[in-house]
Amino acid sequence: MKRDYAVIGLGRFGGSICKELSEEGMDVLAIDKNEDKVNEYKNIASHAVIADSTDESTLKELGLKNIDHVIVAIGDNIQASILTTVILTDLGINMITVKANNDYHEKILNKIGAQQVVHPERDMGKRIAHNIISNNILDYLELSDEHSIVEVKAGKKMLGKSLVDLDIRANYGCNVVAIKRGDDINVSPSAEDTLKANDVLIVIGADKDISRFEKHLVIDE
Ligand code: ATP
Repeated sequence: MKRDYAVIGLGRFGGSICKELSEEGMDVLAIDKNEDKVNEYKNIASHAVIADSTDESTLKELGLKNIDHVIVAIGDNIQASILTTVILTDLGINMITVKANNDYHEKILNKIGAQQVVHPERDMGKRIAHNIISNNILDYLELSDEHSIVEVKAGKKMLGKSLVDLDIRANYGCNVVAIKRGDDINVSPSAEDTLKANDVLIVIGADKDISRFEKHLVIDE
């Protein structure tokens, strides 16, 4: 029977993906080697089975080959996570998302062919750190090692000024791609738009440029 997704490892991360996908009406096969975890997800996922994902024949028997997207959310056992990913790659799965526990793990997963490697603890740590630096930094999304997108509340120095006045591109090398005002989002902000309190800017740029922009214009003294 064809399933849309399989989630291997039902810890907090894998479990939350499994729940969310199921709530969105997706067909999810939940797999864990721990019986208690599988019981927990029996009524949530379309199907929940006890299995060790490092056993190739078991994964074949479960028909993983026919699943479009497999999420590997095995926790501390990096060896099991890597072995599972290798087996899934050999099975020819189209899309494999794997949770990495550290940078070394991430590097290996990329090398062995995982299409998507996520590092939720590190990413969330970075996002929260930026918000701790200033309440005006609402969100932070890494695009690459050197580029990010930030969502910032207009700082005091920006209020009453237009994008022309601030000339963020020339002064900081960053681009304002959208401005949110209440429920409205303007995805092609005009240079003359005057910024008001509580406006939220979505800005893209190199990390070092974003950092300068934040220091000079976003973080209120
Ligand atoms: P969390 O995701 O909860 O933040 P974590 O990354 O430490 O934390 P664990 O709590 O270790 O994750 O959960 C990983 C899950 O993966 C556990 O439920 C564990 O039983 C399961 N697991 C580990 N190895 C295998 C395996 N080889 N096959 C199937 N499931 C496995």
